[in-house]
Amino acid sequence: MKTLIKAAQLIDGTGAAPVQDPVLVVSGGKVEAVLSGPVPAELSGTETHDYPGATILPGLIDTHVHLNLPGDGTILEDAVRETEGVLVATSALATVKALKAGITTLRDLGAKGRTAIDVRRALQLGHGEGARVVACGQAITITGGHVWYLGGEADGVDGVRKKVREMIKLGADFIKVMASGGGTVGTQSWNPAFSQEELNAMVDEAHRFDRKATAHCLCARSIEMAIEAGFDQLEHAGFISDRTGRQVYEPAVAEKLAKSGIPVTGTLAVGGAVLRELRGRPSLTETEAAFLVRWEKSAAQNLYQFRQLREAGVSFVAGTDAGWRFTRFDDLPLEMELMQEGGMTAMETIVSATGYAAKVIDIETQTGSLTPGLAADVLVVGADPLSHLAALRDVRLVMQGGKVLTA
Ligand SMILES: [Zn+2]
Repeated sequence: MKTLIKAAQLIDGTGAAPVQDPVLVVSGGKVEAVLSGPVPAELSGTETHDYPGATILPGLIDTHVHLNLPGDGTILEDAVRETEGVLVATSALATVKALKAGITTLRDLGAKGRTAIDVRRALQLGHGEGARVVACGQAITITGGHVWYLGGEADGVDGVRKKVREMIKLGADFIKVMASGGGTVGTQSWNPAFSQEELNAMVDEAHRFDRKATAHCLCARSIEMAIEAGFDQLEHAGFISDRTGRQVYEPAVAEKLAKSGIPVTGTLAVGGAVLRELRGRPSLTETEAAFLVRWEKSAAQNLYQFRQLREAGVSFVAGTDAGWRFTRFDDLPLEMELMQEGGMTAMETIVSATGYAAKVIDIETQTGSLTPGLAADVLVVGADPLSHLAALRDVRLVMQGGKVLTA
């Protein structure tokens, strides 16, 4: 059974120039061909979805989310007080929210126990419709480290090796390591968490099992240590320099990072979502007002650092940290708008959320671009995202594996 999708243009996710007047041919759940011009005679009579003036894109990929969280301001410490059953349900609902927005793949960067892995399994079994899940299980962290309550605590070279093996046994697609502290009370975002030997051991163990490893880094030293350890990716790449949360950008570290070729997920949307939420409220308490001022500062600094890192030659994939604070599971367009503000072209942000994202998270043989043979994960939006990324919110059709979900 074939299906055709027609629109004004098609962006295939590889960075190639858009195809004008395209006909996307879908067959057996996969992309069969991308044609241009009128429907060929041999395909006449095929079921056709026609969207005049619209743009066809690959389904989007959010490379950094936390499925256990609702994205309504609930913090993870509170969310994990619920049973794992509630966390599984919350996670499943998150995949539905994303899918409706045309985000057909989510990569979870740390969930409690095996909750995200189990949601991935239910979706693989075909028990319902939700964005495809790529999961690390628990984020590996030092005892008492950032998000320790998810169950990923490990210490010492032998201990961290064992933890990597446990995550692989659980079914982890990749390994996530908290290389610095973070927002968790009692952790130090301005200091590295693991020793160099521990980081080296985790990357070595992940690679022995053909898994990629990514490191959460909020301070410059943790970035340097993660580069040294040979991580495949970094999350955030922040420059927090002391306990006040002040960030001091270090060009020498940026240069090292650029030279390493390691891609970074920027997660700019976290700040963007906090500003959207608090600025949208009719009134703020004193605490909220102070929180807003703090985030206005840090969002501006994050954007500045994003721009500097890009100019130094660091490459970025799109990832929102959805679930965290007020970041929603349909917020990938917000991340892309901020990436554009940080110096990327609209096309570059689209590639960073499709073809390049798929490559970085090791799913490019399944999805990420409208290439013959790949899953027919498709998003059709009402206007041209190249002239205005906000068009990505004007969802007309979502297809996953050739199945029409929203039309
Ligand atoms: Zn995160």
